Amino acid sequence: MNEPAMPQPWQWEDEHWRKLVGHVRAGDAYRPRSWKGGARCALALSFDSDHETNELRDGGKSIGRLSWGQYGNRVGVPRILRLLEKYGVPATFYVPAVAALLHPDEQRRVIAEGHEIGIHGWIHELNSVLPHDAERDLLLRAADTLEKITGTRPVGIRTPSWDFSPNTLAIEQEMGLLYDSSLMADEDCYELLLDGVPTGIVELPVEWVRDDAVYFMMHRFQSLRPHTPPREVLEIFRREFDAAYEEGGICQLTMHPHIIGYRSRIFIVEEIIRHAKAKGDVWFATHREVVEWAKTHAA
Ligand SMILES: [Zn+2]
Repeated sequence: MNEPAMPQPWQWEDEHWRKLVGHVRAGDAYRPRSWKGGARCALALSFDSDHETNELRDGGKSIGRLSWGQYGNRVGVPRILRLLEKYGVPATFYVPAVAALLHPDEQRRVIAEGHEIGIHGWIHELNSVLPHDAERDLLLRAADTLEKITGTRPVGIRTPSWDFSPNTLAIEQEMGLLYDSSLMADEDCYELLLDGVPTGIVELPVEWVRDDAVYFMMHRFQSLRPHTPPREVLEIFRREFDAAYEEGGICQLTMHPHIIGYRSRIFIVEEIIRHAKAKGDVWFATHREVVEWAKTHAA
């Protein structure tokens, strides 16, 4: 009876909230004076090929939503690959291991066409609800699975839903990964610190504002509905690019084959590519290439 309640956030000692904030932090910025070939700006396109795993992660009950995932493989990825090939632009695809096992030929084609594949969890699980051993086991198996299917060992990770547990960074370090692309403390690349200690892992930051899902996601039985017209999303992405170009930085975009890969939306990707090409001094690169350049050419 009347056990003392857990302290509320407004009752925490300074030491406690400082520890929470300081656990995973941005360290040194990796900002090169110029990009490869003297380019002024780097454009890093990424596509998270979640396919059926979003629904499987939630229990796999909806056949309709599983078919939506299959669209990502049947229509979305081929449409995106055709577009990238048309302009000779490389991109990075983050693929949950279960999506890779369901669609191994897609992954082999992505690699064969010169793109990068990065880790995206096992079944799009949320890391923050997993015990350490389960999270570690799934990430190790995910890396092995992608390597087995494609013949290429992934060097980067995007955690599913950008969800990060208190253990994620230490596991990434143990795996010897080059980079993470799930956090958002900057617009330039930066080194990740674990409890104040440099990890050597580079963050290539993401942001919800540069993610197609934010504007277009739909759920029939929840209140989630698309709320931004495609031309407005192009406008937001283009402004993000234009400012990155002015500042000599990185324009990084996160998109999804089952979201952007529609007849009425794919023009957004094409227009961004055409707009960047027209500048004449933009480096189109995979996330891995951007990170390697930023790490070795930091000003
Ligand atoms: Zn995802």
